[in-house]
Amino acid sequence: MAHSPEQPDLYVCTECQVAHAGTVAEYIESGGHSYEPPEACGACGASSFVESSGWPHVGK
Ligand SMILES: [Zn+2]
Repeated sequence: MAHSPEQPDLYVCTECQVAHAGTVAEYIESGGHSYEPPEACGACGASSFVESSGWPHVGK
């Protein structure tokens, strides 16, 4: 079973733009994880996040 380093998804708070590492939602059999954004931003308490990979495309 390959065990390669994996970067957790990052979620960016749309309110204060602090990045949070995704919470592991589930482990996938094929190796890998499914991530979900934290329930609330630790900095401002907002609950809307954008995946960091999609962040630059968010027009605001
Ligand atoms: Zn925030």
